[in-house]
Amino acid sequence: MSKMTCDIYQDLIALYVDGLCSEDSGKAVEEHIKSCKKCADAYRQMKNEIKVSEISGEEREENSEFKLNLSKTWKRFKRNVFLKVMAAVLALGIIFTSVYCLFIKSYLLPWDKVRFENICMLSDGSVAFEVIPDSGKKGDVKVIDIGGTFYVTCFSPLINFTDYVSEPSDYIRIKPETDPYETGAAEPVHDCEAIYYGDIYGQHDLIWEKGTQLPKASEELEEEFEFLIEN
Ligand SMILES: [Zn+2]
Repeated sequence: MSKMTCDIYQDLIALYVDGLCSEDSGKAVEEHIKSCKKCADAYRQMKNEIKVSEISGEEREENSEFKLNLSKTWKRFKRNVFLKVMAAVLALGIIFTSVYCLFIKSYLLPWDKVRFENICMLSDGSVAFEVIPDSGKKGDVKVIDIGGTFYVTCFSPLINFTDYVSEPSDYIRIKPETDPYETGAAEPVHDCEAIYYGDIYGQHDLIWEKGTQLPKASEELEEEFEFLIEN
């Protein structure tokens, strides 16, 4: 009966350490373990087990909290790095686009933003003149010959650092096309009929046309062009 009683007490002790037994049962357990070493040992053991499981539970919690914080920090770090990289890429893109649009890309100067000065005729019949942007900066002049009708265009970046300097080498010379395969003094394939400023397919304005008298080029200019041709 005594053994049986201790078994019953140990069932009660299990409930007692979990705080699940009634007040009266609790008091009975407390009384019993004072006088029964076996049940007192069982009580201490059960209590220790609970402590251990509580501690390891806390540790686990702390550990998982640490991992959670770490992964949050890592995610935040990755997000920050990503945002910074994106911002840097965007900033670089804006800088390069601005530099390109302002300093590198050349735009066709409109008719009213360029002047054609010192138009004259050389002894070989070619027409020479200067194309001077109103900005006073040097433009990139291109000439296209469409069967004796010439289209002159002048391109310049929005921000241009090269000043225009009036020199014979800066003159544009419109020379009627000659046959490059013919030996000796080649006859022009066609005359210079007209010179326009502007795009072939877009707006173009007349600079000069055949029949309009031009002053003769200065000797200096003739010599310069001779020199340029020879070299
Ligand atoms: Zn007992």
